Amino acid sequence: MFSKILIANRGEIACRIIRTARRLGVRTVAVYSDADIGAMHVALADEAIHIGAAAAGESYLSKEKIIAAAGRANAEAIHPGYGFLSENADFAEAVEKAGLVFIGPSPGSIRAMGLKDAAKALMERAGVPVVPGYHGERQEPGFLIEQAGSIGFPVLIKARAGGGGKGMRRVDRPDDFPAALEAAKREAKSAFGDDAVLIEKYLIQPRHIEIQVFGDSQGNVVHLFERDCSLQRRHQKVIEEAPAPGMTQEMRSAMGGAAVRAARAIDYRGAGTVEFIVDVSDGLSPDHFFFMEMNTRLQVEHPVTEAIAGVDLVEWQLRIAGGEPLPKTQAELAINGWAFEARIYAEDPSRGFLPATGTLSHLRFPDGDVRIDAGVREGDSITPHYDPLIAKLTVHAPDRPAALARLTRALEQTQVAGTTTNLDFLIRLSRQPDFFAGRPDTGLIDREAEA
Ligand code: ADP
Ligand code: ADP
Ligand code: MG
Repeated sequence: MFSKILIANRGEIACRIIRTARRLGVRTVAVYSDADIGAMHVALADEAIHIGAAAAGESYLSKEKIIAAAGRANAEAIHPGYGFLSENADFAEAVEKAGLVFIGPSPGSIRAMGLKDAAKALMERAGVPVVPGYHGERQEPGFLIEQAGSIGFPVLIKARAGGGGKGMRRVDRPDDFPAALEAAKREAKSAFGDDAVLIEKYLIQPRHIEIQVFGDSQGNVVHLFERDCSLQRRHQKVIEEAPAPGMTQEMRSAMGGAAVRAARAIDYRGAGTVEFIVDVSDGLSPDHFFFMEMNTRLQVEHPVTEAIAGVDLVEWQLRIAGGEPLPKTQAELAINGWAFEARIYAEDPSRGFLPATGTLSHLRFPDGDVRIDAGVREGDSITPHYDPLIAKLTVHAPDRPAALARLTRALEQTQVAGTTTNLDFLIRLSRQPDFFAGRPDTGLIDREAEA
């Protein structure tokens, strides 16, 4: 095990990594920007190093400053968390070049999954079902509209470099295609510096079901079951659960097997998530799930998996990065109970989920039976510089109704003053009849908003 690691991140994920490191006797080094001098992750870490201005480009996204800080602190490894540099292959490579361990997959694995078009082509070759569509090189508008026609409308135009739900346009009719293509390309260019797109069949009312995978450097790969992340607003997850409602053993082993094949195809090491979209028009059926993308990092919603599988995924990450084999075999892993996670954000659901800011003059979380992953304390501020996540609330119970009741109660007992939040929205959502009955789909929130 390492004796000291640097955490190249901030907020809740930095705090969460510190907690496990401390339990394992690993010293932690935080990095922080001008905006985070008094931040919780800085207070929790054993050491903290200032790396620059508030703008992420000057601090949390600066490869050079972060690697220099690790050198200065004599850290042996860097944990990137999620977001920022976590899926940046050049960063992983630079970390290794500096003689440090990157707590994550190899630069080659990150690159293989970095672009959605190349990743889909690779997965097809590995025998993993992919969303029907065009994911080749050609980008001429005339050619793409022809492809859209043969795929059949509605289609989804997707930036190949996309992430966070950006650079996507649903197109229902051929006439709308040229303008949507232009808009998607414009958005992709400005958000990702790459305007290439792929075209997918747009699935109506599908579910998002993803599989947690883990590999070690000895070549072992396991999956830790599924998470259902179908409750989304603007293609971003809001409430996640594990296991997925209605999941059958047959479907789970088909999806788990496909995810393990995906990981093996890229010699995967560490924590990863293979995201699938599932056509549920005929129920959950093993020939109706399709690879969308793989996130080569720890995922925001990893606590629901930790709850049902009874493991600490950050501990697994640290052990594997240190060269140890996977702590458990597939046969030793089992699902226990049901878990939900809700993401509490400073945002205004009534204004298109516009991010909000403010100083948290009052902040109370429920005690007992609830896991709170917060990155802020009472008195801290949510600033416009970073993700406006306040906390993640995770509940675990023997079955889905009990877990959902616990989620609603925990949300009702949470108090936040000083900024607008999505708390009321989450409480309403936790009681929404289709969700309550175990029938989530990715369009549910938008339909509710229109109703
Ligand atoms: P990102 O990198 O932004 O996460 P994804 O490819 O994972 O992009 O897609 C984000 C979300 O968009 C999915 O979780 C799903 O809800 C929706 N989505 C993606 N592809 C399709 C599709 N072909 N049909 C319908 N919805 C889709
Ligand atoms: P996940 O796939 O892990 O559920 P998303 O696909 O929604 O999460 O996006 C990755 C996560 O990383 C999001 O929660 C997003 O807010 C967060 N994120 C993305 N970019 C940054 C960033 N620059 N700083 C902090 N968090 C970020
Ligand atoms: Mg995704």
